[in-house]
Amino acid sequence: KVLLEVEGLEAEVADGGRQILKGLNITIREGEVHAIMGKNGSGKSTLSKVLVGHPDYDVTGGSAKFKGKDLFELEPEERSHAGLFLSFQSPVEVPGVSNTDFLRMAHNARRQAQGLKELDPLEFYAFLTPKLDQLKMDASFLSRNVNEGFSGGEKKRNEILQLAVLEADLAILDEIDSGLDIDALRDVAEAVNGLRKSNNAVLLITHYQRLLDYITPDFVHIMQSGRIVKTGGKELAKELEQGGYGALGPM
Ligand code: ADP
Ligand code: MG
Ligand code: MG
Repeated sequence: KVLLEVEGLEAEVADGGRQILKGLNITIREGEVHAIMGKNGSGKSTLSKVLVGHPDYDVTGGSAKFKGKDLFELEPEERSHAGLFLSFQSPVEVPGVSNTDFLRMAHNARRQAQGLKELDPLEFYAFLTPKLDQLKMDASFLSRNVNEGFSGGEKKRNEILQLAVLEADLAILDEIDSGLDIDALRDVAEAVNGLRKSNNAVLLITHYQRLLDYITPDFVHIMQSGRIVKTGGKELAKELEQGGYGALGPM
């Protein structure tokens, strides 16, 4: 079943009008892991932000359907409630809100959108504990304010914890590997692998091949100047590692 279908997507910076996405196509089905690789500035983060409805960008052409619905008709929070998740390259700190309250609110908002009863703090704690264990996160994380004073690695783990709690259908993970040492990378990758199900999907955005040693993609897409210019299997990432973007020939 198709989760996300993007056709001819064009988008520009909301104020300046500079076009960044120039006719991008991608289709993601349930159970798949896709990787988008590309040089800095090719538009990878812009794609992820446009998909979740970031106000800095205007969609000027093309279409995107998520679970059959026109994505661009939905408000950013409706996209999230529908099961679309984006991890941030630089997660924000939320002073004065404990991590556990933040996670419970986010989880309950998703449950409400699905017509389910909200979890009270005790029920939520029972739901959360195994997820913490899986991520090798200490319970002391929960009482701390969201991302406040977290190290880079802790912020990334917290992003994956948010993903686990939201039980998203499509997770877009933008440079989840940046700034992680090899142990943290392995834990984060293992946690992402642990969240994979036959009815969800992951879109990994990464500059480096290294992450794909730990999370095996079904498809690798190369992005250049706001378009996907080449698609292949996991071997495409290996070609990139060996020869750089130039080795792929004219694109
Ligand atoms: P990547 O994630 O592949 O490194 P980005 O999507 O961050 O690429 O950026 C693509 C291009 O668009 C870059 O040249 C960047 O400077 C530009 N860009 C992205 N967002 C903005 C913005 N809000 N304002 C101006 N230029 C932007
Ligand atoms: Mg960048
Ligand atoms: Mg980026």
